[in-house]
This record gives sequence, C-alpha cells and structure tokens, in this order.
Amino acid sequence: MSFSLVRGKYIICKAIGDAVEVVENGAIAQQDGRIIEIGNYAALADKYPTTQVIGSTDDVVLPGFVNGHHHTGLSSFQLGSADAPLELWLANRIAHRHVDPYLDTLYSAFQMVESGITTVQHIHRLTGRDRTVWLETANQILKAYQDVGMRVSYCFMVRDQNHLVYEADADFIQRLPPDIGLEVEVMLQTQTAPLNEYMEFFVQLWEGNQNQGDRVQIQLAPANLHWCSDTALLAQKEFADRYQVKLHMHLLETPYQKEYAERRFGTTAVEHLHHLGLLHSGLTLGHGTWMNETDIHLIANTGTMICHNASSNLRFQSGIAPLNRFLDAGIKVALALDEAGINDDQDMLQEMRLALNLHRIPGIDQRVPKAAQVFQMATAHGAETTGFADKIGSLEVGKAADLVLLDWQAIAYPYLDDNISIIDAVVHRGRTSSIKTVMVGGEIIFDSGTFTKVDKQAVLQELAASLQVPLTPEEQQRRQLSRRLFPYIKQFYRDWLKSHQFTPHYYQNSRY
Ligand SMILES: [Zn+2]
Repeated sequence: MSFSLVRGKYIICKAIGDAVEVVENGAIAQQDGRIIEIGNYAALADKYPTTQVIGSTDDVVLPGFVNGHHHTGLSSFQLGSADAPLELWLANRIAHRHVDPYLDTLYSAFQMVESGITTVQHIHRLTGRDRTVWLETANQILKAYQDVGMRVSYCFMVRDQNHLVYEADADFIQRLPPDIGLEVEVMLQTQTAPLNEYMEFFVQLWEGNQNQGDRVQIQLAPANLHWCSDTALLAQKEFADRYQVKLHMHLLETPYQKEYAERRFGTTAVEHLHHLGLLHSGLTLGHGTWMNETDIHLIANTGTMICHNASSNLRFQSGIAPLNRFLDAGIKVALALDEAGINDDQDMLQEMRLALNLHRIPGIDQRVPKAAQVFQMATAHGAETTGFADKIGSLEVGKAADLVLLDWQAIAYPYLDDNISIIDAVVHRGRTSSIKTVMVGGEIIFDSGTFTKVDKQAVLQELAASLQVPLTPEEQQRRQLSRRLFPYIKQFYRDWLKSHQFTPHYYQNSRY
C-alpha cells in the first residue's frame, strides 16, 4: 500500500468560474494513487504522523496538465519541414523519414512531463497498410507512455479519401504529369486501407487494451471532414456508440477547410456534422478556427467540445480561433500543443501563457480569457476530452493523485505582490525550470530533473543514433516525390479564397 502526504504553500484544487479553489498551507493525503483527504498540512500531519511527506512550503501543488491533442515526438521542423501554411506543410510531411515510434514517443513524453503534463491525447498517423505493423506501432507508443508513467488516450486518424489535397485522389492525379501521377498512385496503394480495416483495427485495439489498468483509453479519430466520406464518419459514430468511446476530429483548421465544406455540402462543416448526428458531448473538434456564429451556437447547444491549439494555428498560418466567443458561449475548450508548440517543444506552461495573451483584444470592456479559465482548459476540460474526467483534472477526494509541484520561490522570489492571485502568478510566471516533481496515480515519475522510471539520456542517445544512418531508398523516393509534388499542390489551392469576404469575430487592427 502506498501512502504519502503532498504538501504545498498553496494547493490549487480546481477552477470555479473565473477563480480557483486554493488551500493555503495545505496537504493532500493519497493512498494507492487516490486522494483520500485534502486539508491543512498541520492537521493532516498530525493525523498521519508516520507517512512520507513530499513537497514543502516552497511549493505550489496543482493538478497534472492534459495535452488534449498530440501527434509525434520529433517535430516536423526537426524532420525537415519548415513552417508553412497547413495545406503545403501537409505536402511536405510526405518527405519525413521513419522514426522509431517508441523512442519518438518517449522524446515528446519527456518534454510533456517536464512541463507538468501527465495525460495526453495521442492522435496517431498510421503509415502503410499492414495491420500487424499498425498494432506493433500502437503498442510501442502505448508502452512508451506506460514506461514513462503518463496516462494516454490513444486514437489513430481514419482517412478514406482526399489524401493529397481537398479533392478526390483520382481527380488530383489527373492534374499531375503522368510519371508523378503513377508514383502517387503506387504510394496511395501502399499507404491507404479500406474503411473496414480501420474499423477492425479499432476493435482489435479496444479489446486489447481493456485490461491495461487505468492509464490507457482508446478513442476514435475521424481525421478531418475532407479526409472522411460520410460513410466513414457514420461508421465511426456507430462504433463510438457501440464501444462507448469518445471521438476526436480535426475540423476547420484553415480557411481552405471552411471553403472545402461549402463546396462539398453547401453548408458549413459544423452544420454537416450536425446533419449527420455527430455533434454531441463525446466529440471533440481539434482547432475550430474557422467557425461562424451559427457553428458556435450548434457546438454549444450540443455540448460538443473544442480543443484549442494556439501555437499550431500560428505556426501554420491557420488563423486565430475565436476562443473568446467559445468561452462566451459556454463551450468546454481543452488546450493542446498539436506537436507544434511555439518554441518547437511540448511546453504546456508556455501554451497556457500564449492562450491567455493571444485573445486579449483591444477595448477596456472586452471579455478576454482569465488565467483560471486557461488553467481549466489545461486540466478539467483536458480530462473530459481524454475520457479520464472521473479520475483527473482536479485535486479532489476520490480522484487520482496526478499532480505537479512547482517551485513557488521561482515564481515569487525576490518579490511578488499579494495583489497578484496565485493562479495569475502560476500562469504568467510558471516555467518548466520551476517544475520540481510530477506524480501520476500517487507514483512520482519525475523528480528534481530526473525521470524515475526511464533513463532519459539513454533514450535520447538511442534516438540520435537511430537517425545517424543514411536514408533508405524508400525514404529517398518519398523525399523526391514530395519535392516534385509541391508545385502542383500549391497550384491546386491558388484561387480558393478569392470569393471570401472575411469578417472576423473580433478585431486586432483596422485598415481605415
Ligand atoms: Zn493535429
């Protein structure tokens, strides 16, 4: 039986509206990974005199953060794709080399834990079409999270159309010179599978992870509207209902995706999902950057969630999601790094600070995000989107002891006025360097700069060594194909946005 007291100058338990619940000079008693009591430290120390004490009056204790939308470890930038508008960046990704999934996942897991993330929504891009390889890869990714000690909600992106641009593969191939078209056809044959194989793989994964303890969930991920036929969307909804899992779907990340929905359906992407019956509290939409007012009402009325990926939207010139409107409408919004943090890493404290500041529009009466709301996005709402809401997202009796100890001295020394609230101080001044200890289920997984379950330096050395080999012929071929395809992909989107009159939800500047 494990038992410990986690002590802090401040314990930030959860967000309540625009504020947070804080216990000063508090402690959390955890037994076998569950919180059994929260209260005054002196009283709990009296009650449990022989127990191990973690933390001190120099610390602030808060729930572990949730990265609500994540893909890979090494960033696309590290893999050779400089930032570009999303549609072009997707084309560049074809050139990426193969990276060992176990080492790659650990690489980003290290960064996540170092910034206080204890749970992640991992949205995997399957490659090839061999289900044995899919399963091995998924298991390696899950093992990496288990080995480091994180909770993970795993899903893989289901795509059954429009793999290269926002039109049918056969139509786009017709636009290409025959030799490139042939290469693309061969690539698609080796990289895409029929819908039923994806659904069967989901069932296999779901069944295989029923006895993996309480740190693993499986979800379904319709990749995006343009990547899914209605048949694929409806099949995933049906399987989600049957297996009682959540859905996570990219949507309206760029204005091109907004335009795509209008061309395909004559409605917005959100209206189409509503028409198909997909909008509900079990669905999270990643991005939602280009939603109109009606979309936002539909999302709010159906209890659908949104995951805000601020850094990613900036890096891929996707725009700025109308977070202020989402929050006004009462939508539950999670927060994520989407493998593309503003510092090209997985720093949740940085992302919280970005989300806090990005939407501070001019005007003294404007409602802009409060630190407590951003904290709620990174904790309680992340817990909901990952399906762990009954276990994590707040520090409460009965919930898991998933928590972070931050060095309060690093935030408040040499001076911080009492006028500043604790949550404002944490969101404005918290740094990865001030994360002292990270605990998941009562187990310390990171302490004073060291991972307790995995040798970080050995993993990084192995990852580096694994990439010190020449590109394989297959990797070289993909790299060349990506380069040759690029101008045709760029050409495809050339006139897409010309007819649009953009009327922003809120203003940042003015021409007149
Ligand atoms: Zn994504």
